[in-house]
Amino acid sequence: MPHHDGLACPSAFYASARRSAFGRPVPTVWGQLRKALTSHNRDRAADKLDAPCWAPHVATANRRTAASIETVHALVLDFDDGADVVDVMALFPTKERCAYSTFSAEPGAPRCRLVLPLAAPVAGALWAATMRQILKDIGQDKSAADPKCIDPSRLYLLPCRGPVEIADYAPGDLIDVQEYVARAEYEAELSRLAADHLRAKQAARAEAARRWAAAPEADGYSAAERAERRGHEALRADPEVRRRAAADLGAKVAPRDGSDVAHGLPCPSCGRPDAWFVIDPRRAWGAYCNHRNSCGWFGSIGDLVTAAGMQPAAYGD
Ligand SMILES: [Zn+2]
Repeated sequence: MPHHDGLACPSAFYASARRSAFGRPVPTVWGQLRKALTSHNRDRAADKLDAPCWAPHVATANRRTAASIETVHALVLDFDDGADVVDVMALFPTKERCAYSTFSAEPGAPRCRLVLPLAAPVAGALWAATMRQILKDIGQDKSAADPKCIDPSRLYLLPCRGPVEIADYAPGDLIDVQEYVARAEYEAELSRLAADHLRAKQAARAEAARRWAAAPEADGYSAAERAERRGHEALRADPEVRRRAAADLGAKVAPRDGSDVAHGLPCPSCGRPDAWFVIDPRRAWGAYCNHRNSCGWFGSIGDLVTAAGMQPAAYGD
């Protein structure tokens, strides 16, 4: 059996939840800590908020905050959902661990903490991400532990006298945190890269929008080309614009097969006055020469406008 009682496991004891700004450093080895955590011989406080607490961390001289935790030395899981000491000890059958019933435990309503020493200290700043990796590894069935435990500054009530006084200890392997820390750092790096990528994309989009606002022709088209394109589109799709073009071109407009047709226009190809188009573009959007066999010209109203020496852009607005 591996024996880890000599493992450095610095912790801090706190007077109570009410007076928890500064901790008192205590047992420096796991053997002492596990003995303290498995004996319920402390007097019971009248109020839970006055009960003494501990945490497996080393804080700087500053007030206790998540940011002031330098190192974390044990994984503590909090079970308030009906799991008892026997249940939680079975979660990690090969690991060095202890568990104890807590202040609020009552017969028929167990509450307990499971404590597993780490093979090496983990920096406070990396603890939350590291613990998430550990919990991910443990699997969903064991995630009943209170997720608030990922806060490295979190305090835990020490065991004390009460209606339930159950504790257990079992030797085993230490949690090898190096791999979890490496994974946590890797994931932090990945999310940093993803955030950088997103920022770069947003900056590029903002820059493109800024350029567009400053100079709309930045996509390669001049304002004149745009106006011409709008004119061609209107001549192709808008019956009112087509009717106006017919008038401008001097076409005769007469109904044929139930639709108004503009005819008598000079054909851009053969020059004869036999080009025509239907006003309603849903019937036929193009323009045609009547001399299908000898000429066969087919084009757009824009072509007729251009051939007549007028500007399609005039129909764009
Ligand atoms: Zn023709």
